[in-house]
Amino acid sequence: MAFDYDLIVIGAGSGGVRAARISAGHGAKVAVIEADRPGGTCVIRGCVPKKLLMYGSTFSADVEDARGFGWNVDAPTHDWPALIAAKDAELERLEGIYRKLLSNAGADLIAGYGVVTGPNTVMVGTREISAEHILIAVGGVPQMLDVPGMNEHAITSNEALDLAELPSEIVIYGGGYIALEFAGIFNGFGAKTHLVYRSDLPLRGFDEDVRVAIAEALSDRGIIMHPGTTVSNVSANGGAKSITLSDGSVIEADQLMAATGRSPNTSKLGLDSAGVAVGRKGEIIVDAESRSSVPSIFAVGDVTDRINLTPVAINEGHAFADSVYGNKPRVVSHENVASAVFSQPPIASVGLSEADAKDAFGEITVFESRFRAMKNTISGRGEKTYMKLIVDTASDRVVGVHMMGPDCGEIMQGIGIAVKAGATKADFDATIGIHPTAAEEFVTMRSPRG
Ligand code: NDP
Repeated sequence: MAFDYDLIVIGAGSGGVRAARISAGHGAKVAVIEADRPGGTCVIRGCVPKKLLMYGSTFSADVEDARGFGWNVDAPTHDWPALIAAKDAELERLEGIYRKLLSNAGADLIAGYGVVTGPNTVMVGTREISAEHILIAVGGVPQMLDVPGMNEHAITSNEALDLAELPSEIVIYGGGYIALEFAGIFNGFGAKTHLVYRSDLPLRGFDEDVRVAIAEALSDRGIIMHPGTTVSNVSANGGAKSITLSDGSVIEADQLMAATGRSPNTSKLGLDSAGVAVGRKGEIIVDAESRSSVPSIFAVGDVTDRINLTPVAINEGHAFADSVYGNKPRVVSHENVASAVFSQPPIASVGLSEADAKDAFGEITVFESRFRAMKNTISGRGEKTYMKLIVDTASDRVVGVHMMGPDCGEIMQGIGIAVKAGATKADFDATIGIHPTAAEEFVTMRSPRG
């Protein structure tokens, strides 16, 4: 049977572009369909613009710290529109790179919304195109809760990255990655920032001690924490929003940002009629090779709701391409994937939390360290760094590493290699530290926690 293409990729984000480029490199004829800008969530609406704004927001704390080191700094002012314009220019540059990556690889980029119409066909507008394989890499979208007024009056991370002006007061609803990262951004730029979350601590699923440490640190940085609280109603009067919380209090703010999770972006993809099985959240159910219930249709990245991180999507896309077109079959390991939350201070971890390690191994040994980073001594910042190693007592293997403190995302990448390689506590102990750094604590923790 003759098809228009060997492969149609729907979605030109991190996972889709990697899969398309590598497949084309292996000789496949590839089309990529994208309804928005190439680059996807990470480049256009997520990791990249978020981190640029995060970098921008950290200078206020740097200026405070600089005073302790003898700098005389007048109260600095900030030009928000200038930052947004600089960020937009950078995104445009990156979008251009993504377009070039696809054209250099020989893949056709088709603008439009792709709807799956069968095991080998996709409609884009009025045009139906066919391929031997279809790869769905359409990512996720912010999830709005069904709360009166929320849909009309709340923004999501999409809009928060493009605000025309900095809010003077903002309520952020949620206690996950996105909520904490944006709370740090707005707080850093001087907005009065509230974090409203339903659990007693933020970041459910993270190590309990890290959750306690970050709640305290965010509060010390000036974020107004509302634990165990939900939003029950939102109304607006002109630009001002009235946000009623479950404890009966009302916050008047100029923005409410919903950061209450993301859903796979599958509702309009036509998966039902194509017979592709989806789970409760709309995620495409795939096997270890990223193959859906329809053998010719694959899916990678957030749309599968496995581990929703850019590098995971990229690896899944690359493994798909090598397996299907490169004669190098392989599957991605989803074990011991390190990640960082770019809150202020940031958090990073790899492996299991203490509670999960206890469940998995029974007897564990925990090493931890809490200290004031050297830079914080004469800057006068009281904030503590927290570090924790969790060891399976029987094998001596390090099965969980957690940190809250400056540069922990950078530090954890190297630790992730050690954990992935199965390093033992004895291996950590045999490693000589780099002095003076915070990271050296990971190789100098001698006494287990009592
Ligand atoms: P998360 O799942 O991290 O957080 C969602 C938050 O919304 C949680 O605090 C959750 O509370 C809350 N929530 C969900 N449902 C309700 C409800 N019905 N009522 C009240 N609160 C609710 O999602 P995010 O949107 O923050 O991020 C999505 C994913 O994107 C992350 O899990 C991560 O994989 C990825 N990401 C990664 C980043 C990075 O690597 N730095 C940055 C940003 C995103 P509860 O915990 O109590 O359920």
